[in-house]
Amino acid sequence: MNARSLSRRSFLQNLSAGSLALTLGRARLAAQSAPPARKLGVALFGLGNYSTGELGPALRETRLCRLAGVVSGSAEKAKRWAREYGFPERNCYHYENFDRIADNPDIDILYIVTPPGLHCENVVRAAKTGKHIICEKPMAVTVAECDQMIAACRDAGVQLAIGYRMHYDPSHRELVRLQREKDFGELTGLSGGHGFRVRSRIWRLTQKLGGGGPLMDVGIYVVNAACLAAGAAPLAVTAREEPKTNPELFAEVEETLHWTMEFPGGASCAGVTSYARNLNAFRAEGAQGWIELQPAFSYRGVRVTTSRGPFDFVGPNQQALQMDDFADCILTGRRTPVPGELGRRDMQIIRAIYEAARTGKRVEL
Ligand code: NAD
Repeated sequence: MNARSLSRRSFLQNLSAGSLALTLGRARLAAQSAPPARKLGVALFGLGNYSTGELGPALRETRLCRLAGVVSGSAEKAKRWAREYGFPERNCYHYENFDRIADNPDIDILYIVTPPGLHCENVVRAAKTGKHIICEKPMAVTVAECDQMIAACRDAGVQLAIGYRMHYDPSHRELVRLQREKDFGELTGLSGGHGFRVRSRIWRLTQKLGGGGPLMDVGIYVVNAACLAAGAAPLAVTAREEPKTNPELFAEVEETLHWTMEFPGGASCAGVTSYARNLNAFRAEGAQGWIELQPAFSYRGVRVTTSRGPFDFVGPNQQALQMDDFADCILTGRRTPVPGELGRRDMQIIRAIYEAARTGKRVEL
């Protein structure tokens, strides 16, 4: 598509005809056609905020899968979910007995939604049930854990996907298209920030369960978007932590962190993440234009502006698309576009950024 001919209509047409068709095409086609004889059963593992506020409701919108069970530390809560979502109480498990899911034909997918410090042990044990797995971001807290998780799923012959919902948002697919088609010419620079305010002691402030601070939790979105927009992983990173304004609350993790990622071809990304500031933006500059996303990483309402004008569109339900795409992968034998290897790559980058912040040195990947 010619850069100058971009109009709102062609932009939208292009979104649906081009970039979306790639990753989303199959899921979308499958989702638009008649539903399968049996929707795949998903069991949510961990019924905290994300499961309650987003994943459960999204599973009411999916065409290829449905909520069929839960794993929770609270039997009462699990039963409440069974009533609300209409699945049998026999599909309620707790953290001690969920291995029995191996014998439950209602459940095809286990979706791990616990704190990152638990992802490795949860996924390694879940893989033994023989069910396919989605694991929330960040994949784990170390690269070695990611390796264990990938190996466990490979040995069990199950697919492992990471809950990278933004890969299913049209705005981020547009970043991929621009990178591929060079609509704005060669990439010259990237920048992005993601952060929110944390005021109380939660697992996100601990090394044990969070594995780090805002970089692990939300800065990862900037890392991921930059790699999508650059079409590659960075060659090297530098980083610097801002002095803490609340050293007591942020005793174990960074409060605000700035970093750069150097990409092949010369473009670099300036990133910032924080638990003391609201940040939610991403920008990619090309030799002949730019695209800006603000908010860039929200569940809905991601807004896109380009050097040719603003474009608003109603985004689809990211989580429903993400889960339907994974279901389609299982039904068709296709490999997920967001596999454990992608989660591992991001963990490698994040760990390099932490090392750069700690040592003050440029760290090559
Ligand atoms: P949360 O604290 O609200 O929920 C965590 C769940 O894990 C709870 O049900 C809790 O009971 C359970 N849990 C089990 N063992 C636990 C333990 N030892 N300590 C603490 N909790 C334990 O957290 P959340 O916001 O739902 O986040 C869960 C995961 O989902 C994280 O990996 C997070 O990064 C991810 N997440 C992803 C998105 C996204 O947009 N993709 C958004 C929010 C959270």
